[in-house]
Amino acid sequence: MLYWDYAAAAPPFEEVVQTMEQLMRLHYANPSSLHRAGLEAEGLIRRSREVCAVALAVLPQEIRFTSGATESNNLAIKGAALQYEGRGRHMVTTQVEHPSVYESCLQLQRRGWEISFVAPGSSGRVDPARLAAEIRKDTVLVSVMHVNNETGSIQPLEELGRQIKAANHLTLFHVDGVQGYGKLPVELNSWKADLYSLSAHKLRGPRGAGLLYVRDGVKLSPLLSGGSQEQGERAGTENVPAIVAAAKAVRMSGEQRSALTARLLPLRDRLLRFLEQLPELLLNSSMEGAPHIVHFSYPGMKGEVLARKLEELGMIVSTRSACSSRLAEPSRVLLAMGRDHAAATGGIRISLGDSHTEADIEALEQAVKKAVTSLKITEGGRI
Ligand code: PMP
Repeated sequence: MLYWDYAAAAPPFEEVVQTMEQLMRLHYANPSSLHRAGLEAEGLIRRSREVCAVALAVLPQEIRFTSGATESNNLAIKGAALQYEGRGRHMVTTQVEHPSVYESCLQLQRRGWEISFVAPGSSGRVDPARLAAEIRKDTVLVSVMHVNNETGSIQPLEELGRQIKAANHLTLFHVDGVQGYGKLPVELNSWKADLYSLSAHKLRGPRGAGLLYVRDGVKLSPLLSGGSQEQGERAGTENVPAIVAAAKAVRMSGEQRSALTARLLPLRDRLLRFLEQLPELLLNSSMEGAPHIVHFSYPGMKGEVLARKLEELGMIVSTRSACSSRLAEPSRVLLAMGRDHAAATGGIRISLGDSHTEADIEALEQAVKKAVTSLKITEGGRI
């Protein structure tokens, strides 16, 4: 079996597994306790915060540890909404965001907030001028992802940041960085980002761990009330093994970014060139996208059927993103990019990681050819 679902969850670094195991045995004390064992656990969190701060070129006190990017995105959007309601009740986001951003915005909308959902172009990128035109005096926050989790399209964050701040310097800029970190350069300062979310398990860290960068001076109203952990913005006893292991994954995947990208780009390009030649196939990714995501549709053929066929042939792929793959509706992201219902229903996402080789790509290409041919013959995959 070959695993092609790194964008859903990447296999952890060996060091991450070892760290989790050792810390669960050794550092079970509560980091808020004042005895020596508690202070040791607190010290581990402090060092992890420093590690993440170095990796992102920010200050340690600007890092909040969370249970993952879903929580980070919820905290960024709803925490800012609750904190800055006095400035207005308007937000701007895009039609292609992850459900943790999109649904948070819809929840606010149901409570009377106005949300502008900006449409992307056919490549999935949003036009900065078009987005900036939505910004008003009462716009509290703009949320735009770095890399799309379904198609791999990359947003022009530097230009977005410039135009957002030019339109309203008080508007906060949140970036969901989950699919970009470890694959593309991260420049929080040049993006003028105030908030930035990461998830550890996409970076070969543990699941259930993530972080939110909160620029100094920005305040968030906590979504979890309780103790004063994470500067009072995220109450609850810290998951010390996951935090330390997540910081390790952030450091290691940051250090390995250039080498990984250099390995993945030729593999991704080869796969795209192969898919391009298949008749009827519609590519939803391009060479301008992130180096690890390739998405395509066979209009009229159900993604799940194709994915199941590929699994029979030894290839583990996903139909879109893990969070939406159980939904029967067409992909909101593909519809927003102007794809029709047939193309947006299903589709296949292939996501690459460090373990893949040229021989693996060759095997995948053969499997795709075989799967498509056999489904066409049986017509079993037709909608
Ligand atoms: N944002 C994006 C772009 C993602 O791909 C994901 C993971 N599917 C998330 C947010 C949510 O991350 P987590 O699984 O850590 O909650």
